[in-house]
Amino acid sequence: MQFDFDNKQRKEILKTVSEKLENYYSSTKDFKTNPDLNIKEIRESILTKELANGISPDKAIEHVIKGLETFSVHTPHPKYFGLFNPRSNYAGIIADLITATYNPQLAAWSHAPFAVEVEELIIREFANKFGYDGNADGVFTTGGAEANLTAMLCALNHKYPNFAKDGAFGLDKKPVVFCSAEAHHSIQKAAKVVGIGYSLVESIPVTDELKLDTEILQQKLNELDLSVYSPLMIIGTAGTTGTGTIDELNQLSFICKKNNIWFHVDAAYGGGAILSQDLKHQLTGIEKSDSITFDAHKWMSVPMGTSIFLTSKNDILGKTFRISTEYMPKEADKLTITEPFTHSIQWSRRFIGLKIYLSLLFYGWQGYEQTINHQAEMGQYLRNKLLKSGWLIKNYTGLPVVCFTKADFETDTNFTKEILDKILAKGKSWLSVYPIKGIPTFRACITNYNTTEKEIDELVDELNDEVISYVGQ
Ligand SMILES: *Cc1c(COP(=O)(O)O)cnc(C)c1O
Repeated sequence: MQFDFDNKQRKEILKTVSEKLENYYSSTKDFKTNPDLNIKEIRESILTKELANGISPDKAIEHVIKGLETFSVHTPHPKYFGLFNPRSNYAGIIADLITATYNPQLAAWSHAPFAVEVEELIIREFANKFGYDGNADGVFTTGGAEANLTAMLCALNHKYPNFAKDGAFGLDKKPVVFCSAEAHHSIQKAAKVVGIGYSLVESIPVTDELKLDTEILQQKLNELDLSVYSPLMIIGTAGTTGTGTIDELNQLSFICKKNNIWFHVDAAYGGGAILSQDLKHQLTGIEKSDSITFDAHKWMSVPMGTSIFLTSKNDILGKTFRISTEYMPKEADKLTITEPFTHSIQWSRRFIGLKIYLSLLFYGWQGYEQTINHQAEMGQYLRNKLLKSGWLIKNYTGLPVVCFTKADFETDTNFTKEILDKILAKGKSWLSVYPIKGIPTFRACITNYNTTEKEIDELVDELNDEVISYVGQ
């Protein structure tokens, strides 16, 4: 058994893979959007006895691709109107392949100076786009959850300079985190991980427009028993996961400034709007934040594991994460550089930023602006189309997330569920159901740059047909 292949074998393997990937990439729309969840069949399809001695690469590749093609929700499908999972763009796919091959180690600057400097450039570019001044800092993270966790750690270390040393045991007051009831649950998770506990996350109810209710927030702050509690951070969401709603960032920033509270904006999805001249005004106020979460693996259509944490407080990442070691390389000690491992939860680090750098080299900011505008237009097209066939839109956002139901069925708890089950069983489109103020709604998000009016027309036809058969039962 050889652990490496020769040149001819490698080329053949790569050829097989590239043909299979091309087949998937060019015909994604022919796949059933979602699999049958037959757990027995799925588990039996996974090879076990072959693990002992291995099989031929051709067979192994064919097996893995068949498994993924048969048993996945096809998020790259143009009729996946789903959660914020994009179709990966080609630059991102190639970037992951290149990264895996060179396997640069981004923990230490001196091991991968080109890669680290590329990431720093991208961080600076985004800091600039979001309106931070030249002093901002940031780091690539694996996702929005890690970025939100990083934000909470930064807020703690900013307010309590001994937090890195003494942890939660050193706190004199219980730090409270405020976010809206529609904020992402990675915030509760972050509170669990940092050790303050999720009971200190105060979920503020939302207004009729589904935004964090700043009056209730102000009231909660006024009522806070300061002998026990201390407000730590307020998190505004820019593009909630359920409804794409953007909180009142200016007002939140004002409340934070007045009360000396860390202002974090979770723009995991909605941050993409900053790339469009037509949409960016919706994010006004984000430039006044102390930190931002932005997931490039959502609206920037790069493969998973690509997110950005930004902060306007340029010393805080170092204060939060710096640690000195004997074994890390010291070649760059005298250079004015940042050692990535002193800025991040991660240690060994993949070249995450290449997916964005290569995408920008392939398509430019201008290409991104076009594709983001296109998706926003498709969201508007879907809204109009639904309104024309008598649907009610239940959310309010300029982003392409549409939540809708029929007036006659608002109180019928079976309506959305039954129709959704039928649509998913057919597997021509994928969408979800999301409750808004107790009313279940269909939720459709344009998350694929290849989704056009044709796919939207088909979705709405499918929904309308299902309503007819639901009523006819
Ligand atoms: C998706 C999402 C997250 C979590 O990001 P991951 O990349 O999945 O870790 C956090 N906040 C919001 C608003 C999100 O939509």
